[in-house]
Amino acid sequence: MKFELPKLPYEVSALEPVIGRQTVELHYGKHFQTYITNLNNLIAGTKYENMELVDIVKDSEGPLFNNAGQALNHNIYFLSFSPDGGGEPTGKLAEAIKKDFGDFENFKKEFNAAAVSVFGSGWAWLAKDASGKLSIVKEPNGGNPVTKGLVPLLGFDVWEHAYYLDYQNRRPDHVNALWNIIDWRAVESRY
Ligand code: MN
Repeated sequence: MKFELPKLPYEVSALEPVIGRQTVELHYGKHFQTYITNLNNLIAGTKYENMELVDIVKDSEGPLFNNAGQALNHNIYFLSFSPDGGGEPTGKLAEAIKKDFGDFENFKKEFNAAAVSVFGSGWAWLAKDASGKLSIVKEPNGGNPVTKGLVPLLGFDVWEHAYYLDYQNRRPDHVNALWNIIDWRAVESRY
């Protein structure tokens, strides 16, 4: 099997109460694993077999795009959290947020509005272009801003499987709480 689940840098219960143990066990251990298993099955014996994940997402469509996209998305998602997270970014990313969104609070407000307004299943992303300019991108289903030539920095998964056990229909509460566990050092490393 070419692609594998990344090891979580925290215990499955470490993100409570923002994300509960059972949600991490199912979301990481079952949903994410299934995307990776499907991806490996779909690329076996094809031209995609030896491609990087990002390149597969850029080049594919249909079931392969869906599963490769979700494999990429969840790699970024699960490695963006820490029980010691929260606060604000520093350094160049902090400067870029100030430049492109005014200040961190306004960035959060715009990002939350994007995440809450994704209709059905999808993602809200913070992405950068080749010049480092930031933007907030909404993607349906398993979409990722790499297909628009952008680099994904941070993604909020707003599929119901990400929050329903902990928040039921209250997506805005879930989105609001996620800021308390963001590992900004991980996000800054992508900028
Ligand atoms: Mn998910």
